[in-house]
Formats: sequence, structure tokens, C-alpha cells
Amino acid sequence: MQQETDRHVRSFFQNLLELKEPWRVVGVELKEEDRSVEIEVEWPDSYKVPCAECGRACGVYDHAGVRWWRHLDTMNRTTRICCRVPRSNCPEHGVKTLEVPWASARSRFTVEFEKQTIDLLLLARSQSQAARYLELSWHQVHDVQAAAVERGLGRRDLDDIERVGLDEKSFGRGHHYGTVLSDLDNSRVLEVVEHREQASAQKALGALPAAQLAKIKVVALDMWPAFMGAAAVTVPQADLVHDRFHVVKHLNDAVDTVRKQEHAELSSSSQDWLTGRKYLFLKNPDSWKEEEKQCFKELRKKDLKVTKAWGVREAFQSFWLFTSKTAARAFFRRWLKDARAHDLTPVTKVATMLENHLGGLLNYVTHRVTNAVTEGFNSKIQMIKSCARGFRTFENYRIAILFHCGKLELHPL
Ligand SMILES: [Zn+2]
Repeated sequence: MQQETDRHVRSFFQNLLELKEPWRVVGVELKEEDRSVEIEVEWPDSYKVPCAECGRACGVYDHAGVRWWRHLDTMNRTTRICCRVPRSNCPEHGVKTLEVPWASARSRFTVEFEKQTIDLLLLARSQSQAARYLELSWHQVHDVQAAAVERGLGRRDLDDIERVGLDEKSFGRGHHYGTVLSDLDNSRVLEVVEHREQASAQKALGALPAAQLAKIKVVALDMWPAFMGAAAVTVPQADLVHDRFHVVKHLNDAVDTVRKQEHAELSSSSQDWLTGRKYLFLKNPDSWKEEEKQCFKELRKKDLKVTKAWGVREAFQSFWLFTSKTAARAFFRRWLKDARAHDLTPVTKVATMLENHLGGLLNYVTHRVTNAVTEGFNSKIQMIKSCARGFRTFENYRIAILFHCGKLELHPL
């Protein structure tokens, strides 16, 4: 009777695992010490073993030592498959260990368990959280993530990319930067390289095969000599488009510098009109609250430098609406003259920088691209950065970003 039951249990698990002959479940045990489930699988000696190299049916040389693979839990019990995998004796390739159908080579987890880990990592707020839930170490989870990214990179399709973006991102503490290359056509991160120098950007662009690089038509990027140099060398045929986000950021920085300087001047003569008003000038006026609108009205009457700088920034918004380069250029000339007329050093500096990069600004009119893709990933990248406890190397950041933002096929097959 007991034997009959055992046979049923084995066959039940064989079906659950979808194991094909001659693989067979020869034992299922509920371990007393930790209430875990161990499923013993065997390849009987009487069956020939295909050589891992050439597939030829060979005799069994021997069985390797016992190995365990973590599998999906059974009724909330940690479950492992254990097996002594047979080794083939190929006349051509010698002794080779057979690949098991339930796991990738070298993995200590089954394919199903890896899939679960990957899905959980995509959902969890942090790697440590996923690790805790699965009762794995941070390193084990990281290994699954790294293998998933490696698989995904090997499988991804890089054809038909014509528009890419180069962007810098800060990582870790202090001034630690990385270069992010994104595919603007398919909204995904293609590569992440440490530092933000010309060599880093060239290395990032090198993620694309030479034939694909030759097809790149547009690179969206900041007015950053290192990135512009990299684009000129790697994709000389491409139009450079200066990124709207960065242009706006430079203008915002100028407004903020003027505000700070003026606030200091006013405060020294006990005029605190600009106290607590930093964000009033940085915010989009469309999102001003009633109180902010009133405040701005009052400040405007005072003929302040910061409201002039603000006006220059606001006036530039129209630039993005032009659909003709000639009209956009004419607008820019008028804007530039006006910007300089206020004689505010931070504003003049940005205006001159924009003038020096007018070609790349005008290219926006034709191509209308921005690095919005990378901006869209900022919250994910922020999450990755905030749980960066285990990121001792930049490579780990790279893997995590490609995992979450690379649109890769991550699952083992
Ligand atoms: Zn062989």
C-alpha cells in the first residue's frame, strides 16, 4: 500500500515537473530538519546519454556528484531538485556532463525559479526586498539578474535604430557619473558606461554594431563637448540635437543664480522679498497657485533682476514651437539681443552658450527629439540608486539599469 502511494507521489511530481523520459523522479522526501521538499531525479544507466557537444548518443561514463537546484516552493515549502547528472563518454569529445532540462548550465536554480526571481525583481522596490522574500542572499539574486541581462543583451534586436540619446546620470555619492545611451525610437536604455567623458560616450555608442552606427541619423545630447566629440567621431553622419531638457535646465540655473545673488544683495539691506521664493521662479507658471500668482505680480512691480532673467527664460519657450528653421533662427536672434540687453552675467553666459550651439538647437526644429526616454527612466534609476547598498562596483549599476530599463527578454528559455 505504502509502495503504491510512493509510486503515485513520484509520478505526480514527474508530471508537475513535466520531466520527459528517461528522466524520472525516483524519490520525494519531506525533510524533517527544515520541512523542505527534496525531489530526487535520475537518468537510468540503461539509457544512452547525448554528448553535450555533438548530440551523439553515447554510453554513460559515470554520474557526477550530487547537485541541488532550488525550485518553486511546494505548498510554501522550499523545494529542491537533486540529481547526480550522468556524463557521456563521446569518442570525439570525451567525457561531458549532460545538460539538465530544468536549469541553465551552471545555475543553482531551476529555470522556473529564475523566472520567478526575475519577475519579483521587476516588481520589488529593491533587490534586498526581493532577496528577503525568496530567502536568497543579495549575491544570489544579483547573479540571477546578471545572467538575465547577459541573456537579454545576446538576444536583443539592434536593427532599425536611427535616433539615440546620450545623457549623463549621477551615481553613488559625490561626483560619480555615468553615461547612458538610449534608443529614442524604442524607448529603452542601450548601454551604461562609467564616467561622462568622450571615451565613455564612445564606449557607450560602441554597444551598437558598426553597421548600425552608420545608420544613426540623430543624436540628442546636452551642449557637452565630451559627448559632442564622441558623436563626431563615432557617428559623423548624424545630426546633433541639443536636448530641450538640458537647455531648459541651463536657463533655470541662470535664473536661480541671478535670484541667489539678488537675494543676498537685498537681504544685506533687510529687504526679504525673495526669501523662500526659489521655486516660484523655477516652476512652470501654469502650475502656480493663486498665492504664487499674487506674489509674482507684486515682485514684478519692483523691477528686480530675477524677474528679468525669468522673462528671458520664459520667452525662450516659444523656440520649441517653430517648424521652420528660418523662422526659428530669426526668433533666436531677437531673443539673444533681448537676453543680452539685461546685462545679467549668468543669463548672458547661457545665451552665448546657446548661440555657440545654434546649429544643434535648430536641428530640433527638424527632428523634434529629446532625451525624454531617459528622463522617463529617472524614477526607476532613482530606485536603483536608492537601494544601492550592494552596488560596490559600477558594473552592478549597469546591470540593474539594463535589467529595468533595457526592455530585454530576461527569462531563460
Ligand atoms: Zn561529442
